[in-house]
Amino acid sequence: MAVSMYIGTRNKDLTATASEAILKGICPDGGLYIPNEIPKMDCSKEALLDMDYQELAYQVLKLYLDFTEEELRSCIASAYDEKFDTKEIVPLVKKGDVWYLELFHGKTLAFKDMALSILPYLMKTAAKKQGLDKKIVILTATSGDTGKAALEGFADVEGIEIMVFFPEHGVSPVQKLQMTTQEGKNVFVAGIEGNFDDAQSAVKTIFTDKAFAAELEEKGYCFSSANSINIGRLVPQIVYYYWAYIQAVKQGGIAWGDALDFTVPTGNFGDILAGWYAAQMGLPVGKLVCASNDNKVLYDFFRTGVYDRNRAFHVTVSPSMDILISSNLERLLCHMAGQAATQTQMQALKEQGTYTIDITEKRIVGEFATEAETFTAIQEVYRKTGYVMDTHTAVAYAAYQKYQKETNTQTPMVIVSTASPYKFTKDVMTALDSSCAEQDAFQLMKALERVSGVKIPNVVAGLAKKTILHKDVCKKENIQAFVRAHLQ
Ligand SMILES: *Cc1c(COP(=O)(O)O)cnc(C)c1O
Repeated sequence: MAVSMYIGTRNKDLTATASEAILKGICPDGGLYIPNEIPKMDCSKEALLDMDYQELAYQVLKLYLDFTEEELRSCIASAYDEKFDTKEIVPLVKKGDVWYLELFHGKTLAFKDMALSILPYLMKTAAKKQGLDKKIVILTATSGDTGKAALEGFADVEGIEIMVFFPEHGVSPVQKLQMTTQEGKNVFVAGIEGNFDDAQSAVKTIFTDKAFAAELEEKGYCFSSANSINIGRLVPQIVYYYWAYIQAVKQGGIAWGDALDFTVPTGNFGDILAGWYAAQMGLPVGKLVCASNDNKVLYDFFRTGVYDRNRAFHVTVSPSMDILISSNLERLLCHMAGQAATQTQMQALKEQGTYTIDITEKRIVGEFATEAETFTAIQEVYRKTGYVMDTHTAVAYAAYQKYQKETNTQTPMVIVSTASPYKFTKDVMTALDSSCAEQDAFQLMKALERVSGVKIPNVVAGLAKKTILHKDVCKKENIQAFVRAHLQ
């Protein structure tokens, strides 16, 4: 049975169809939309084993969206095509004792492409279904990867404007270049003086500012979000957990029905939450190891039940995980404890920066890796297997090693690999060879090509020659003014 309705995490009476939820992005009270009931997968093992990525995506998405078969298949065909540099879309590769689920074969070399290649099509279809007569303004806060993936997905899409805010001093040089060189008539990009949490809070405030919404509505605009607070981001991510499981069976690594564990490098809790949804749908997921970097607010939470953002913010070599307010955790809380408790906890988070709960969900295990452990993981995996991981994947690998030591588990493990090492060449190459620290981004790419044997992807090879088109830097308190100024 497909999802009949989406409801708010802070108020279950705030209901929406899937199309409405995708267009709104966030509930009017600042809560997030969740399915009122998580659907069960209704395909047989034989059917699943026979599917390509596109067909599997259809079988999963149809359970969550109020789209016709024709609409949905058209969105999927437009999203998962030659933009990806491999026909299988998401390779599952075994190196040493573990599998790596390579989610970085899309246009921007990070897992965000998995959802952001399809979100523009979902949004356009939803707008058509709703008879929306306004221009959609996508406001996006990014820790580095969402921004570029959203820009690629939405650039020059008719009826949509896309605005991206990234932490001016908190992204890698390649990430920054990818965003500031973005072409397109409808794109606005600005650095902000602040970190990701500042950007995300400012954007969330704009979403819930009724007066500002009314002012823009008069000018013919409405807001939506490309962040993982939008269910249109979350749902396409469920697909690759099924895909990983099916490939592991096909490769003979597990028998159908056996448990499979996943370690997920986590920031805003969107990726891992999709894995949790897959488990609720009936996929035999064992444990989901939630891997954090030094910003280990989630590690502490899953160990103690105390969420506490009152702590120093660390800028790490895995910037896409430098987050202290993991938005999607709110969805898990609501599934565990209901709307009333979630409302109270989110209020406490806002006012005191902390809340405490009794964690009833035992499938998720918190682990974390320090910067030193992350570098060691890159070296060790390379030395043992010749495989070069990016820094985020390395956090996951180091977390997996700790988990393995603690539990002695025999369950096979998938490391969710969220970015290509070509996005983080400096830190990856410095881990492998400290003499690389002095080289520029493009010398580093050549060095990485030599050691990894993986060709420099076209999308980053060309960056050096591109013109920087976006130079704005704004203070976090001026984001609203920036938005207003650019929508005249
Ligand atoms: C966004 C991102 C993450 C974190 O994913 P969440 O869904 O925010 O938890 C991890 N690694 C990379 C490379 C990312 O871009």
